Amino acid sequence: MRCPHCKDEVLISLEYEKVEVDYCTACKGVWLDSGELELLIGNEEATVKFLTIGSPAQAPKGEKHRKCPECLARMTKESTTTDPAIIFDHCPQGDGLWFDAGELATILNHAEETLGQSEVSTFLKDVFGQSKQES
Ligand SMILES: [Zn+2]
Ligand SMILES: [Zn+2]
Repeated sequence: MRCPHCKDEVLISLEYEKVEVDYCTACKGVWLDSGELELLIGNEEATVKFLTIGSPAQAPKGEKHRKCPECLARMTKESTTTDPAIIFDHCPQGDGLWFDAGELATILNHAEETLGQSEVSTFLKDVFGQSKQES
């Protein structure tokens, strides 16, 4: 699969436990297949609460619509219910979700605050983000 942000970069697969995460080494964006975020957070109900799929969000200024790396359909922008809200891309056919660099780590931080630490999110934050150290 190619990175929906960089277009000519190929996503690399990382696997932890049973969760496969596709990752772009150039822009540090992350693609999650449908259902994988639930596995990462470990709680489907809570995950659904974080994401407001079905209520399209406004794209940040200058950000173009991206294409799903699997089916190439134009993805829709959705936002999380976290504060601050995170805008992510969602395949209209439900293939998965795209998060820009640091966004997944931010969501996992929120999940931890609500649900407590999980091994998978600790692993992913090690790999993908130091969003807590930036502030
Ligand atoms: Zn990329
Ligand atoms: Zn798709």
